[in-house]
Amino acid sequence: MNIITIADDLRVILRGWFNANHILLTGPETVLIDTGHARDIAQTLHLLNEAETPAETLTRILITHAHQDHIGGAATLCQQSGATLLGHRWLHYAITQRRSDWLGPVWPQEAPLPPIHPVHEGEDVNLGRYTFRVLHVPGHAFEMIALYEPTLRVLISADAAHDGDLGVLAPEMEGIGCVPQAVESVEKLMALDVEVMIPGHGVPIMGRERVADSLKRTRQRLMSFITNPEKRMRHLARRVFLYQVLLHQPVDVETLRRHSLNVRWFTAYSEQLGTTPDAFFDTLLDTLMARGLILRRPDGLLVSPIPA
Ligand SMILES: [Zn+2]
Repeated sequence: MNIITIADDLRVILRGWFNANHILLTGPETVLIDTGHARDIAQTLHLLNEAETPAETLTRILITHAHQDHIGGAATLCQQSGATLLGHRWLHYAITQRRSDWLGPVWPQEAPLPPIHPVHEGEDVNLGRYTFRVLHVPGHAFEMIALYEPTLRVLISADAAHDGDLGVLAPEMEGIGCVPQAVESVEKLMALDVEVMIPGHGVPIMGRERVADSLKRTRQRLMSFITNPEKRMRHLARRVFLYQVLLHQPVDVETLRRHSLNVRWFTAYSEQLGTTPDAFFDTLLDTLMARGLILRRPDGLLVSPIPA
């Protein structure tokens, strides 16, 4: 298992791009931050066992934002543990109001979620043996939070910042303000003194200079989305297309094409980018294959080598 120890009682279970990373805080209690994808709950339960924090031991579960790869499985884990659920004050509103089917199929929650204990911008929240400051970082999702621990200088950045990148920006769901909001959110993170950044996806970034450089690159990318909206669209298209491959793999080209042409964002973006859905599909497939992010197996089926 890919588990990274950041400090005493602070570990990261690395997942991939289909499931968000899990962050585990132990000591006086066991807190889990982000629960992965509902489809992969069996794997999540297995990983929690391997980390010697089985579901029954969880006392609190904090969700950074209501996307399927971060909140899926939360209902099951809350049910098995009786854990309290924490999230930003708008988490409940996001769960009930966001139309995330625009990006692809939505998994129903396995059971109803318990009431959410709300956390707010600027609040200090004790998690395990640490006190984290809550930072509201809208853009990728209006209810998203990051968490900062000033003694270890650890930043949990969720999808507001990956290494030189960030989660997709979809004005169709979040409004046109989501791009400038994402810039301000990254600037908020850049103002912190950070030694370790734990992103929602990808490996933690260690060292003050590397973190600063990573956030600077994320901000640069975002500014290029402001000056060149088409770039933002292509970024979303590549990410969501890859997500579809991870969802359906191993998959043949025509099945993948059928799935793609059925998803709303796909036809909408091909139109906005002045192409046909079929040509858009071919371009995306070629681009991602050229980058080695999608491979054709000897049996002809497509798979992605990136961790799910
Ligand atoms: Zn997300």
